[in-house]
Amino acid sequence: MSRFAYVNGRYAPFRDAKIHVEDRGYQFADGVYEVCEVRGGRLIDERRHLERLQRSLKEIRIPLPMSARALGIVLREVVSRNRVGYGIVYLQITRGVARRDHAFPSPQTPPSIVVTARSLSMARNEALVEKGIAVVSVPDNRWGRVDIKTIGLLPNVLARQEAIDRGARDAWFVDKDGTVMEATSANAWIVTPARVLVTRHADHAILRGITRSVVFDAIKATTLSVEERAFTLEEAYGAREAFITSASQIVLPVIRIDGHAVGDGKPGPVATALRRAFHRYAEVS
Ligand code: PLP
Repeated sequence: MSRFAYVNGRYAPFRDAKIHVEDRGYQFADGVYEVCEVRGGRLIDERRHLERLQRSLKEIRIPLPMSARALGIVLREVVSRNRVGYGIVYLQITRGVARRDHAFPSPQTPPSIVVTARSLSMARNEALVEKGIAVVSVPDNRWGRVDIKTIGLLPNVLARQEAIDRGARDAWFVDKDGTVMEATSANAWIVTPARVLVTRHADHAILRGITRSVVFDAIKATTLSVEERAFTLEEAYGAREAFITSASQIVLPVIRIDGHAVGDGKPGPVATALRRAFHRYAEVS
């Protein structure tokens, strides 16, 4: 099946979808992005993702190149042209094309917009959820504003590869005090021996995941209690359960951390229940 991408106002066949060599995304990682889950051909939590996109753009002073409504139309068009029933849609906005210079280009420079979409295998994702994943911890060497969803992801790329090289699936960033920040492209959670859910508070040092926010809504409807606070790697090793949350994986159980089995080393009931409940609390559009 032929794939299409939206690039600066055009729906182009994938092989013709190109960005200029002096795009500031390419030169400086000077841009931001969003990823939405697609289910049944519909967008999950579009409103919240577009709100976070606008916040990210504002923080790095890139003007919103088109209204959130118009962006929504483009997202849907790319999903539909690529016939994505279940998968993800990716949106990237950079500061545009200009002669390479660190300072911002002239305000007339139009931001570049790229949208792609691709199908994922639900069966493969479900199989992964049933097995759970192993993670390893790595020092957090990222910049101080990872609350902005920028395309500058080199530390995340290196950490993910290190995890794979060490026989795991993902890495958890840990700060100099030994507290867990988040995974390379997901938020990190544990369930304590007293059955309390814990995830790190969202400040400038982690990305406030949309999935994380919706999971909070799902927890409210249960009798479980939840704490937003720092937790150490040691606490995570001794947790009853652990899991990560992101738009592409929703809730994915973590069964090993640095080689330590979490709980009984199998996906736990809390993670499994939250994953099942998630789409009752997410917005579909
Ligand atoms: N943390 C990081 C570093 C991420 O890159 C992501 C998603 O890409 C998340 C957390 C989860 O965010 P969301 O739930 O909005 O996908």
